[in-house]
Amino acid sequence: MSTVRLILGDQLNPEHPWFREVDPGVTYVLMEVRSETDYVLHHAQKVLAIFAGMRRLADQLRGAGHRVRYFRIGDADNAQDLAGNLRIAMRERKARRFEHQEPDEWRVDQVLAAFRASCGAEAAVVPSGHFLDARDGVARHFGADRGRWLMESYYRAMRRRTGLLMDARGEPEGGKWNFDHDNRKPWKGDPPAPRPWDGAADLGGLWREIQDAGVPTFGEPSASAFPWPLDRKEALAHLRAFVKRGLPDFGDYEDAMHTSSDRLFHSRLSHALNLKLLSPREVAEAAVDAHRADPGRIPLAATEGFVRQIIGWREYIRGVYWARMPGYAEANGLGHELPLPSWFWTGKVRMNCLRHAIGQSLATAYAHHIQRLMVIGSFCLVAGVRPRDVDRWFLGVYIDAFEWVELPNVIGMSQHADGGFLASKPYCGAAAYVNKMSDYCKGCAYDPKDRLGPLACPLNALYWDFWLRHADRFANNPRIGMAVRQAIGMPEAEKRAVRAKAAALRADIESL
Ligand SMILES: Cc1cc2nc3c(=O)[nH]c(=O)nc-3n(C[C@H](O)[C@H](O)[C@H](O)COP(=O)(O)OP(=O)(O)OC[C@H]3O[C@@H](n4cnc5c(N)ncnc54)[C@H](O)[C@@H]3O)c2cc1C
Ligand code: SF4
Repeated sequence: MSTVRLILGDQLNPEHPWFREVDPGVTYVLMEVRSETDYVLHHAQKVLAIFAGMRRLADQLRGAGHRVRYFRIGDADNAQDLAGNLRIAMRERKARRFEHQEPDEWRVDQVLAAFRASCGAEAAVVPSGHFLDARDGVARHFGADRGRWLMESYYRAMRRRTGLLMDARGEPEGGKWNFDHDNRKPWKGDPPAPRPWDGAADLGGLWREIQDAGVPTFGEPSASAFPWPLDRKEALAHLRAFVKRGLPDFGDYEDAMHTSSDRLFHSRLSHALNLKLLSPREVAEAAVDAHRADPGRIPLAATEGFVRQIIGWREYIRGVYWARMPGYAEANGLGHELPLPSWFWTGKVRMNCLRHAIGQSLATAYAHHIQRLMVIGSFCLVAGVRPRDVDRWFLGVYIDAFEWVELPNVIGMSQHADGGFLASKPYCGAAAYVNKMSDYCKGCAYDPKDRLGPLACPLNALYWDFWLRHADRFANNPRIGMAVRQAIGMPEAEKRAVRAKAAALRADIESL
């Protein structure tokens, strides 16, 4: 029986069980379509990385003897959406069976469920085999009746389940589950940050095809020396380079930011992980193995911090997504309605921290976690930007942004728009935090120490005004009650001045 199997652009794992045997009755379908490029405005590097990755996988499959039907973005017979091209491929191959791997996004899940129901063929969904837990694994861990989920509890269960960093007695290695308190140092230039990865490909031809097809994008394409891995072999080289050069200092400088390095000691592996060029287990195991081989150079605190991101945060975030969809994207628990400033699309803003973090994002399609959370996200939160606008920007700009991981990070962790379901406190900071963890304030037009003057850092008034505006909601939160009490305790005249300054900043947000 002739079968059509769909491979989505974020399912580029050449080691999926599908590919173990060559079956001439099976056709693998990959497609570059406008329905996937246009549902949000995407960074040029994101479109390039996905199309180039699909083309590499298609070539590998053909080389191994598999039958492949590939729709290029400019092909005349490309229907430009998933269902349309699947219908074409099914008709061409007279297919009686349709299969696809479990998608990670709710939107695509809906499209494919509708196609399965209407395609007139036998249809089946197989696991992508990519995550350590099932879609509903996090929900099952907490049970239906818990009001708030805590990542730490899930993370410990995942440590036990995977055996990663557990000793022979079933206790956490080093006697502690979490070494986060050791991971808070600013970076002053030493040790040197790893060099950028140098496996750059020339994607100039593909970039011309994307432009000729009229696909709207933004940001710097970097097509002639593309800085991201495009297949599993390159992704493995990237993983090895990170474990050798980045992991030893990952823990110490996990929260640091600096104008001289985009990534410091972060891995830049989210893209390869989310496209499934690498599995989360092998990434976490590579870190643990390296630590075991050389604990003097790669400390337990760094290894634990990294493993927690992969088997804890990443899986937990995905579980929250599936538990809260549909509808999560509309959450706006704090009632924030300010439109996203237009300088998010240009980087032209005088606030140096934002100019740097946004400018870097536009240039590289990457920012590390603290830049996303404590600079860009924190500004949006304290300014009161509409969470849906923030979500659209984050979903478009980062090379690793897929809704299952982007949405909970934006709506839940960064904008606290889900009523505190994902995160037990809002994440935000005033200039003191940015000044402590980065060198951004040194080159800034604003004064990080001033709150109310004409050149006062805008974050300061916005930050204190945020606590004043939401004091009722957060005053009893043990994790941030102190900040709220400090805000409430300000003399009335100062409160009025902070409120007036914040209102003026909001009214003039385009000129910051
Ligand atoms: C507002 C906001 C938006 C974000 N959007 C995305 C997104 O669209 N896609 C995405 O993959 N991550 C997102 N993150 C999480 C995190 O910032 C990125 O995974 C990380 O910066 C990627 O860089 P890295 O590979 O160098 O990460 P590292 O710091 O080296 O971490 C290692 C890996 O851990 C995983 N990880 C770490 N933190 C998280 C997290 N909070 N959620 C899920 N996985 C995590 C990633 O796979 C990452 O590659 C977002 C975070 C915030 C605060
Ligand atoms: S002074 Fe304020 S705006 Fe300027 S870099 Fe520091 S925190 Fe950012």
